[in-house]
Amino acid sequence: MIRRNKRQRTQRRIIVVIILLLFSTGFLFYPVLNKRIEAKRVDPIPSSLEQIEADIREIQLPSADTEIYLDLVNKTHPLPADYVPSDLTEVAAVAPGVTCTQLRTPAAEAFAQLLNAAAFDGYTLVLRSGYRSYETQQKLFDGYVKKDGQNAAEQYSAPPGCSEHQMGLAVDVTSPSVNYKLKRNFGSTAEGSWLAENAHRFGFIIRYLDGKQDITGYIYEPWHIRYVGIQPATEIYRQNITLEEYLAQQP
Ligand SMILES: [Zn+2]
Repeated sequence: MIRRNKRQRTQRRIIVVIILLLFSTGFLFYPVLNKRIEAKRVDPIPSSLEQIEADIREIQLPSADTEIYLDLVNKTHPLPADYVPSDLTEVAAVAPGVTCTQLRTPAAEAFAQLLNAAAFDGYTLVLRSGYRSYETQQKLFDGYVKKDGQNAAEQYSAPPGCSEHQMGLAVDVTSPSVNYKLKRNFGSTAEGSWLAENAHRFGFIIRYLDGKQDITGYIYEPWHIRYVGIQPATEIYRQNITLEEYLAQQP
């Protein structure tokens, strides 16, 4: 009798210890499990490249993707000196110390989405120069002429009225990896390659392509992107042509 009681007590103790153990482990692991479940629900880890693409499309698809901006501005198609876009807006992500930080609203929105997508892929891109007034372009160009002479300056800078920056639809893009400079080697950096391969998805084109100087009038500028809208940008990217060539194809 005494022995059975002792055995029963021992069994009860074992059961209590087991119950306590189950409770404490559940208690310990619950927050971890819960966190995992929450993390999975809020921010799933993409399982494939297609998934990543789908996520970006879902998050980033520009709302202004139906709008098209095909006005041609170049050395033979200048803007009036008094042309100022009416819908200029500030861009948030800009290189340190820059002053021309505005774009037309559709371009600014598309550019913000482009920067988000770049960040999603691990690249930091910022605006180095956006809208420039006729007067600002005049000062800039005069400075280049003084430094390099008229002919040389015209290869890489637009005379006043002939700059897409006056349209508010062009952005010079740079990154910390090139110390926020605008240099040809930006095109071969990871950021520059990303820009060349993805800008069209947000309605931008690399405006001055390598080897197309006879058409565009400008040397290769891997940093200068121009907003035209998603559909034309995608077609221009697919054919690897300039805006001039694309416009010549249109009926
Ligand atoms: Zn530019």
